[in-house]
Amino acid sequence: CGIVAYVGSKDAAPILLEGLQRLEYRGYDSAGVVVSNKGLKVRKVKGRVADLAKVVPPRFKGGLGIGHTRWATHGVPSDVNAHPHLSSDERIAVVHNGIIENANELRAKLTADGAVFVSETDTEVLAHLIARTAEETDTLEEAVRKALKSIVGTYGIAVVDSERPGEVVVARNGSPIVLGIGEKEMFAASDVAALVRYTRQVVHLEDGELAVLKADGFHTFSSDARETAKEPLTVDWDA
Ligand code: GLU
Repeated sequence: CGIVAYVGSKDAAPILLEGLQRLEYRGYDSAGVVVSNKGLKVRKVKGRVADLAKVVPPRFKGGLGIGHTRWATHGVPSDVNAHPHLSSDERIAVVHNGIIENANELRAKLTADGAVFVSETDTEVLAHLIARTAEETDTLEEAVRKALKSIVGTYGIAVVDSERPGEVVVARNGSPIVLGIGEKEMFAASDVAALVRYTRQVVHLEDGELAVLKADGFHTFSSDARETAKEPLTVDWDA
């Protein structure tokens, strides 16, 4: 339902929680965050963003992370089904808006290949699939781009890789993703409302587009790996 991502020199967690709070008007049943700092640290709960904030400790440090509010479509609202979802080796974490239509088929294939599923969600296939693809690709953006070729359905996603602690990859197909450009920091969200406290410079992804966010900038590309040229827009908003 709601996505927020951050990479920069500040601590990600408070920014993610604040962004998720700004998306509360959309409605949701669970919330979660992951930050990358010598491995992935995850907290997720059934309930409100305020409930999530209670279980995120002050020592939850790290300048890169992604957060999610869930509106359950596949699997009941629960702590385990809340996003982010991780690969079995905890290298990859994913948050997702939308519905993966071929999740059952992919789950069977990935399970046969050794992946261990812990949730009932359609989203979890993305974590295992991207992790498998990452073993055979040189960059996270390639891993995400190639993994998405097997996906039928709708998604706005944000992905982090514990082995690439300086970047977040996002992608859009049928569920919005907007990038926010800061000073030596980058944001992304499913809705500009989560970003306006931090920046007014935004870039909307099109369906089929992906982006890599790093503290010093971003680039966007298509599902066939062509770079796409995007002009930032300035949003006018009374926050
Ligand atoms: N289909 C996913 C799930 O049920 C994502 C739902 C959402 O968009 O929040 O977990």
